[in-house]
Amino acid sequence: MQAALGGLAAALPGEDDPRRLELRRWLEAHPSPSPRQLAERGLVAPHWPPPWGLGADATEQLLVDDELRRAGVRRPDNPIGIGWAGPTLLHAGSEEQKARYLLPMLAGEEIWCQLFSEPDAGSDLASLATRAEPDGDEWVVRGRKVWTSYAHRARFGILLARTEPEAEAHQGISYFVCPMDAPGVEVRPLVDMTGTHTFNEVLLDEVRLPAGSLVGARGQGWSLARVTLANERVSLSTGGALWGMGPTAADLVEAVRAQGGVGDALLRQRLARLWSEGEVLGLLRLRTLAAVLAGSVPGPEASVRKALADAHGQHLMDLARDLSGAEGMLLGAARNGPAPWSDAGWAYGFLFSPALTIGGGTAEVQRNIIAERTLGLPRDPAPAGTAAGRAGSLRTGTG
Ligand SMILES: Cc1cc2nc3c(=O)[nH]c(=O)nc-3n(C[C@H](O)[C@H](O)[C@H](O)COP(=O)(O)OP(=O)(O)OC[C@H]3O[C@@H](n4cnc5c(N)ncnc54)[C@H](O)[C@@H]3O)c2cc1C
Repeated sequence: MQAALGGLAAALPGEDDPRRLELRRWLEAHPSPSPRQLAERGLVAPHWPPPWGLGADATEQLLVDDELRRAGVRRPDNPIGIGWAGPTLLHAGSEEQKARYLLPMLAGEEIWCQLFSEPDAGSDLASLATRAEPDGDEWVVRGRKVWTSYAHRARFGILLARTEPEAEAHQGISYFVCPMDAPGVEVRPLVDMTGTHTFNEVLLDEVRLPAGSLVGARGQGWSLARVTLANERVSLSTGGALWGMGPTAADLVEAVRAQGGVGDALLRQRLARLWSEGEVLGLLRLRTLAAVLAGSVPGPEASVRKALADAHGQHLMDLARDLSGAEGMLLGAARNGPAPWSDAGWAYGFLFSPALTIGGGTAEVQRNIIAERTLGLPRDPAPAGTAAGRAGSLRTGTG
């Protein structure tokens, strides 16, 4: 681990790198930059091309991350916009779409959501039933989406709808930008078992979208959906166990140390196993990062890492609950109970953790993809009634 970390640090440009110095001068002149200033300076997504980003390679991106962290500057929060919708618009959007949407997206002024999943189309996303029919120079959309994170806060959604119903499976799907305040869009809250309202059901009842809402060519939405789902930013996130957020295995070990250790031999073994898992995942993450820094595309270790990391998050939260004793079963007790379990992050994390192996492609789907694309095993036969059961048509990304 130390060697890998050392190698990574050596790959980062030094303190006198001109890009560092220029950025430090700008940060001195803007000690508390507004989200808009960060966006206009290209610092929110430095790997995007100018004028939205800096056209930064992975090394410069890490350098910018490093400088912003040292300066205590936080980027605007708009995960689906900046993480997935933006890269897809950069890939296939018209100049008008880029000019209209990208800057407010980067500044976090307009939040985005992802209108992909439907009640009968999740893993098998290509079997989606929402329809968009042309009517003059508009599209009329009818359908129902579900699990739409942030739909209640979003100004726009990226929407997949079928425009050629007679076409096969993933043919005939188109990709749109849908204003969430358009007449006919109804957002119904879904409160998950953490007690939090993050995702929603979204009804689309004769929603009229102007012709300019179509992204890319009509009927080519599936290839754009794959761009959206495959997009992940190189980030130096803390590697928290809840999709990069939240506490880590090392945090749990620290919490136990602070409590004076744990006497139970089985709990100690689980803690040691968890710590080892965390180290292995850390190394896999560094390997991916080092590959990117060296200019190569991340290989199968990225899919393997997701499959392992999601289960690891659940192991971590299960153990935190067990270590917290009987009080760990009560959310309120965990919030108000003795330190370190008084930190609500553990109780929330435990209740959120089942979602880790569902969202972003389920654990089973991840394994199908690893089996087919990495190990070269025979394809999953398409189950009856699905658009396609093989990895090429299965959902592979976050959301
Ligand atoms: C926290 C969270 C946030 C989300 N946010 C969004 C969002 O913002 N936008 C959005 O569009 N969606 C979102 N989703 C939905 C998510 O993408 C889907 O839940 C996921 O793709 C699984 O689809 P499903 O729920 O329909 O399950 P299904 O696809 O019905 O799967 C049910 C079970 O069958 C298994 N299964 C399915 N196909 C296969 C196969 N071929 N081989 C083996 N097993 C299989 C699955 O692994 C699973 O165990 C979110 C989900 C979560 C948990």
